Amino acid sequence: MTISTRLEQAIVQLQTRYQPPDHSTADANDSGWSRFLRILLGISASHPADETLTDLLVSSPIATPSAATGTSAGELVEILKPIPRGPQKASVVRAVAAWWLTQFGDELSPEWSASPSSYRESLRQIRGLGPATVDELLLFAADLPVFPIDRTALRVAIRHGWIDWPIEDDDAQSFFTSGLDRSIPVMKDFSRLLSIVGDDFCGKEPHCEGCPLQSMLPASGPREC
Ligand code: SF4
Repeated sequence: MTISTRLEQAIVQLQTRYQPPDHSTADANDSGWSRFLRILLGISASHPADETLTDLLVSSPIATPSAATGTSAGELVEILKPIPRGPQKASVVRAVAAWWLTQFGDELSPEWSASPSSYRESLRQIRGLGPATVDELLLFAADLPVFPIDRTALRVAIRHGWIDWPIEDDDAQSFFTSGLDRSIPVMKDFSRLLSIVGDDFCGKEPHCEGCPLQSMLPASGPREC
């Protein structure tokens, strides 16, 4: 069975169990910058703090990268207090704003015309931004063909014998992006569905009984990871 066929089968199994993932991480009128911050702050359209963040994205210094960088980290802590875990992310918001200015100036909805790998590399230099978060930002906020390789994605792939551990970051990235035909909507769906199955069944220890991917396990059961 090819990687694509396996991943396709996994998506079907997950979609059969779970509702289609909510794609509305942002308002349709959101700028690219606003989408970036929504992902960074972990506030989707269905989150209770969505309205508050929407207001801040219009009327506070986080409305533009230049205003955010011109604001002290301390002030940003105060501004982000109404957002859950917002104050802890004030420094990274400021650093991301500085990164954005170097890439796109104050253009809020820029063309992402450089290679995804160049954005990945430069964003990974920012303290507080882990590799999986960078990939999440690039996929969900910038619509670039990058798959978030988080703990759940790795656990599921290793436990099912799709990949071996240890694996180089680029190889894991290539496994998911090629296996999902670099289709951005499919990558978004799969990433969200994996996150749900990770919460429900595939955490630190696998609880395979009743998991929608149980029928896809190796005959000997989940592999060690
Ligand atoms: S809990 Fe078991 S069946 Fe479910 S995804 Fe994890 S390893 Fe697979």
